Amino acid sequence: MSIQVKTRARVAVVDVTAKVAAAVPDGLGSGVCTVFVPHTTAGVVVNENEQRLRGDIERALDYVVPRDGGYEHDEIDDNADAHLRAMLLGESVSVPVVDGDLDLGTWQSVLFVECDGPRTRSLEVVTTD
Ligand code: ZN
Repeated sequence: MSIQVKTRARVAVVDVTAKVAAAVPDGLGSGVCTVFVPHTTAGVVVNENEQRLRGDIERALDYVVPRDGGYEHDEIDDNADAHLRAMLLGESVSVPVVDGDLDLGTWQSVLFVECDGPRTRSLEVVTTD
């Protein structure tokens, strides 16, 4: 099943936990839910959904992979930083499912990280028992 995420900025951290949870089939008792981002300039992580931390994540990405780093790919479509940031974030996370619910830790959320927005993205949610 796919879910849609719309962003309003070039870089954005969006909590998609509720959308992912809604995509877990009712009949699934226990298993694994994998969230996969089929894009090369966005990623997904599990971390705390706290407003200032979301800003810190954006600043950390900018610090580790600056926007203008003299990258060769920028000669093609000017978004090499987004590819490199997405590579560091990763394209999937797996979350245990127990009794039909995502078994996340108290402070854990599934966070989609847009690195080349704003745009609408599709994320794949795959569950196995
Ligand atoms: Zn590119």
